Amino acid sequence: MNNKLYGNLIFELSHPGRRAYSLPENHFGSHPLPAAIKRENDAELPECDEMTVVRHYTNHSENNFGVDNGFYPLGSCTMKYNPVINEEIASLKTFTSLHPLQPIDTVQGALEVEYNIQRALASITGMADVTLNPYAGAHGELTGLMIISSYHQHRGDTKRTKVIVPDSAHGTNPASAAVCGLEVVEVKSTPDGLVDVNDLKPLLGDDIAGIMMTNPNTLGLFEKDILEIAKLVHDCGGLLYYDGANLNPLLGAARPGDMGFDVIHLNLHKTFSTPHGGGGPGSGPVGVCEKLIPFLPKPHVYKTKEGFSVENPNLTEEYSTANNRVSGYHGNFLVSLRAYTYILTLGKNHIKEVGPLATLNANYIKECLKNDYELPIDCLCKHEFVFDGLKDKSTGVTTMDVAKRLLDYGYHAPTIYFPLLFHEAMMIEPTESESKDTIDGFIKTMHIIAKEARDTPELVKEAPHNTPIGRVDDVLAAKHPILTYRQLINDMSEEA
Ligand SMILES: *Cc1c(COP(=O)(O)O)cnc(C)c1O
Repeated sequence: MNNKLYGNLIFELSHPGRRAYSLPENHFGSHPLPAAIKRENDAELPECDEMTVVRHYTNHSENNFGVDNGFYPLGSCTMKYNPVINEEIASLKTFTSLHPLQPIDTVQGALEVEYNIQRALASITGMADVTLNPYAGAHGELTGLMIISSYHQHRGDTKRTKVIVPDSAHGTNPASAAVCGLEVVEVKSTPDGLVDVNDLKPLLGDDIAGIMMTNPNTLGLFEKDILEIAKLVHDCGGLLYYDGANLNPLLGAARPGDMGFDVIHLNLHKTFSTPHGGGGPGSGPVGVCEKLIPFLPKPHVYKTKEGFSVENPNLTEEYSTANNRVSGYHGNFLVSLRAYTYILTLGKNHIKEVGPLATLNANYIKECLKNDYELPIDCLCKHEFVFDGLKDKSTGVTTMDVAKRLLDYGYHAPTIYFPLLFHEAMMIEPTESESKDTIDGFIKTMHIIAKEARDTPELVKEAPHNTPIGRVDDVLAAKHPILTYRQLINDMSEEA
């Protein structure tokens, strides 16, 4: 597995008596702990010298792939560069040592940051107000749907229990709706990949709480009928939810609020350059139009004549309403701070260049590769696009094979087998941060893989050849997961 001469676990490198430290001589005598709180046996801790520890963890870290060490065209995820200045600001001790329960007159600076980013995000998206509480996009979806449900219920309109979700939607959309207790109704896409207005019309009625849309959608296409859709949904009494995971190409160019959306979420870890992957920390702020402000969760930061104040949740109320609380305290403050740094670093004018550059990069890759890869919807895309596998289907080389072969060449694979509209979907999103050299290198590699698929298909089908772990059997892993690991202590020749 790992061709470096280091164990998989630090425990496997342990030798009794080895130490990575030495303590100064004890001049204070012995003061034993009471027997009642003393352990009976020594803790089983690894015993290693310092270099072994350093090499072990450094080697493991090098098995990782991240935006900082290579091109990461993972569609739908907006793996853009996370500027180092964001990290510098977020690691300032004046921010990191704050406690959420400090008296508010001692945290006026932090509250000002929160207030300012609430306002910046509201202004960028055209919403009336924003909460920073949710921890991720999916959490924002749940919060937003709870706001929509609360709004209908508050008006005594209790029949609205269905939410319309396009067949191209990200899986979190129907999942969030289900968690919120809403029934999901699917609306189909037209052959050119947009929400089918004719399929939508008959679904609308007095049982519809709202519709969830992503714009540009998960195929990277702008939903050009959005104004008509907004009118249709509003006319039937429903609200519009905007999945903001794809805001990147619209930054500073168009605003969901102006398109008619009532509730939105943003993924600060996508559009606003804060790191993601590995499960967090992320942030999924939710923005709302004027009439939904009373349903925003708390705590919420306000500006008053005296300074910044916080409206806290009423913890005696039921938890089922969104306008109470959805997270501990203020959400991921340091993630908000990184996004705020990003917005201020770019400024009003430069933020408008993000979308056009991301769009240009995606269209450039698409046009360069469309002779080798099947392009099911051939038109101008926004920040990402979808291929349906290799154009030459006779080779038997699948999207999975191409993705695995890309790893051999040092690239992260694109998103594969999503969206579900095509069998061999391969979703590519370069982002605005990449140089032309990097993008040209990727294009060249994709051409090489297409040629390999024709000339030496086995080479691609058996990829990856250069990674520490080859292909894992996904099905076996799902059906018979091995959840324990047998340590190799004192017998390094044994197989794991
Ligand atoms: C990433 C993504 C989500 C979910 O966001 P998380 O922050 O990962 O929870 C929802 N919708 C779309 C279109 C996405 O790309």
